[in-house]
Amino acid sequence: MASGVKAIRGMNDILPEESYFWEYFEQTARQWLAAYGYRNIRTPIVEQTDLFIRSIGEVTDIVEKEMYTFIDHLNNDSLTLRPEGTASCARAAIEHNLLYAGPQKLYYAGPMFRHERPQKGRYRQFHQVGVEALGYAGPDIDAELIVMCVRLWKLLGISNLRLEISTLGNTESRTLHRSRLLKYFERHRDKLDEDSLRRLYTNPLRILDSKNPGMQQIIENAPRLIDDLDSESWSHFESLQRILRERGINYDINLRLVRGLDYYNRTVFEWVTDKLGAQGTVCAGGRYDGLVEQMGGKSTPACGFAMGVERLLSLMQECGKKIHQPDPDIYIVYQGDEQVVDYAWKCAEFLRDEGFDVILHCGGGSFKSQMKKADSSGAVYALIIGNDEFRAQEVTIKPLRELIEQVSLKLSKVAEIINKKDLY
Ligand code: ATP
Ligand code: MG
Repeated sequence: MASGVKAIRGMNDILPEESYFWEYFEQTARQWLAAYGYRNIRTPIVEQTDLFIRSIGEVTDIVEKEMYTFIDHLNNDSLTLRPEGTASCARAAIEHNLLYAGPQKLYYAGPMFRHERPQKGRYRQFHQVGVEALGYAGPDIDAELIVMCVRLWKLLGISNLRLEISTLGNTESRTLHRSRLLKYFERHRDKLDEDSLRRLYTNPLRILDSKNPGMQQIIENAPRLIDDLDSESWSHFESLQRILRERGINYDINLRLVRGLDYYNRTVFEWVTDKLGAQGTVCAGGRYDGLVEQMGGKSTPACGFAMGVERLLSLMQECGKKIHQPDPDIYIVYQGDEQVVDYAWKCAEFLRDEGFDVILHCGGGSFKSQMKKADSSGAVYALIIGNDEFRAQEVTIKPLRELIEQVSLKLSKVAEIINKKDLY
């Protein structure tokens, strides 16, 4: 490797200091997903570019300017690093006929890629955990997805997340709304920025999603989708709200909630915080009843969400959650002839069988220098093995963190004096 090669901007290394925090999150999330009956699906990180264009929508931030698209020069295919997970899940479900076996509760976890301007909470490789409930018409499943999130926030020690919900109606109400929006924005053409002008005739709904502060006033006064809503979507939305109230879940209705992907209809929701600055949405989702059919599958109502892991972990830290990797239990120092060495290796494996985290000293050296290593390893106990111990088939155990005398004892007794610990 050439000297000075660095990681790509916006794509982070997660170092051991931090990775345990990730592992803790992943472990918690896996148990939480299982508790609601979701099963893992693992799709490739690279897909045909068309998959994302067709599902996410041509006139969206992601497809217009955030995708890592490249030509595979070996066969001239246009490929894209996945910017999100729903399209791949739907593709895999169709490709493998999963939906013929009935509704599917799927989850995925892993890196996503978007070419955005890197800043706190916004990266070019970031991670999501997402769930997709395929084949469920709701609104009970919409509500359960939200109830699920509430449980995860509790498990992670996160407070101060606000739930915003809205409804986007069905295709017809969106078409009606689209034409009303178009007329409105045409009247205010002079106030539109470059992006919005471009979107005026292709996807005026997208204008509502503009993050340009100068556009907020005109967006504020635009016609509201709620006024064009079809009656079924309205009652779906009311049922969702009723279940949320019954479950004691607070929410705000934000009629300006526009999701950045075209495939959403009816229920949409976001979990937001003001503790993370501008990157305040940690989890977002909604219903996408038309996507599977549009992609060539059978008509399949569906609902899902995705959470940004980096933002969630930052929020956990903001909320004071502290997670440190447990120190090893035992550091074995040893010295002697071949038989002693063999005995030390056997002791290490025996103790690992017993469930302890054991570091067997590597690289030789005097007892004194090995003990220094044991001390700085963070281990709770040093296990000393020399000729005397080997002859007596014992080990000497020395607490490193407490002022207690060392003792020599049979290996099988070690577990009795060291409390077994749980992983987390
Ligand atoms: P934003 O409005 O912040 O750009 P988005 O609407 O593009 O978010 P989604 O496509 O809904 O985001 O993705 C779901 C979640 O994934 C977001 O709520 C966020 O937590 C996370 N996320 C999205 N893009 C990034 C990114 N570039 N870096 C880190 N996390 C991200
Ligand atoms: Mg975005």
